[in-house]
Amino acid sequence: MYVIDRDPLLLTPGPLTTSLRTKQAMLHDWGSWDAAFNRMTAEVCSQLVAIAHGAGNHVCVPLQGSGTFSVEATLGTLVPRDGKVLVPNNGAYCARILKLLTYLGRQAVELPFAEDQPADPQAIEAALMADPTITHVAQVHCETGTGIMNPLADIARVVARHGRSLIIDAMSSFAAIDIDVRTTPFDALIASSGKCLEGVPGMGFVIIRQSKLEASAGNCHSLAMDLYDQWTYMQKTSQWRFTPSTHVVAALHEALAQFHEEGGLPARGGRYAANCAALTDGMRGIGLKSFLSPSVQSPIIVTFRAPEHPGYNFKTLYQGVRDRGFILYPGKLTQVETFRVGCIGALMPIDMRHVVQAVADTLRDMGVPVLA
Ligand SMILES: *Cc1c(COP(=O)(O)O)cnc(C)c1O
Repeated sequence: MYVIDRDPLLLTPGPLTTSLRTKQAMLHDWGSWDAAFNRMTAEVCSQLVAIAHGAGNHVCVPLQGSGTFSVEATLGTLVPRDGKVLVPNNGAYCARILKLLTYLGRQAVELPFAEDQPADPQAIEAALMADPTITHVAQVHCETGTGIMNPLADIARVVARHGRSLIIDAMSSFAAIDIDVRTTPFDALIASSGKCLEGVPGMGFVIIRQSKLEASAGNCHSLAMDLYDQWTYMQKTSQWRFTPSTHVVAALHEALAQFHEEGGLPARGGRYAANCAALTDGMRGIGLKSFLSPSVQSPIIVTFRAPEHPGYNFKTLYQGVRDRGFILYPGKLTQVETFRVGCIGALMPIDMRHVVQAVADTLRDMGVPVLA
């Protein structure tokens, strides 16, 4: 089969399909000492703080690397060595936080939930009351492993009421689903360049309460991961500590301009919701069911149950859909056979309808019956 040489659309939760403008923003070289580059970093950081309505009390600390680097850096910097972290766990990224805490030698308390159930604020409250030595709660907002939304505002209120510190992994929701620090109080929120902001991957950032960051000197086990050190150096010099991911910063700067042109967070979230609706409606039409109930489904990524047919396997589906111009994502569940389709990136509902068509055509080629 002849395959036309163009980029496939990425139906994945990062890296994701970016606009031409964002890609073109990377066609320059920048010096890390150069004022123009450092201005770009400062502009990116102040816009990121503004998206969380954090101006005044919160600052943005960017960090080179993928999103997990920033999660590790935040836990290592903000949680003192004798701290103890409660981790509500309903999926793969919650489990990753538990694993990070083990590596960091910080005490962790797991609060397990089923993968199709949101974290329960009442259970979190009970856990905090049962153990006054818990200092922090680390909560994933949208658990990208399944696409489930956790009730963040309610959880934040519980954590604040009990005087503990909230660290949010909002990697896959930030800039698409509102997190307003004035109503959802947090000490740290972690996200990255390459998800709902539609930049390219390569840097994370943390929106941190300045007073907590200032009090965290000496906590971190690692030089490269020390957000306190990264921030104080940047304050002093307006430069990144260590080589910055210059092209990634430039792409994010341009992606943020487009984010604002589109209409900011309500418009971005609205487009993803429309993508998600087009996807789930289309898949239902060909007989494929979502794993989650609609009431807890995020507009970010959808897990579908694989067809129960001997002719089905993910590799063949992936390749057939790939040949038709789309990249799918494997499932992350251990119990049920699934695959995932992301709704984020420079995509529109019509792209989602085309993906459904590609899935239907591929399944038919595999001898797997589809509806319609
Ligand atoms: C993408 C993501 C991360 C970070 O993953 P990386 O592969 O390190 O970028 C962390 N948490 C959540 C919820 C995510 O979706």
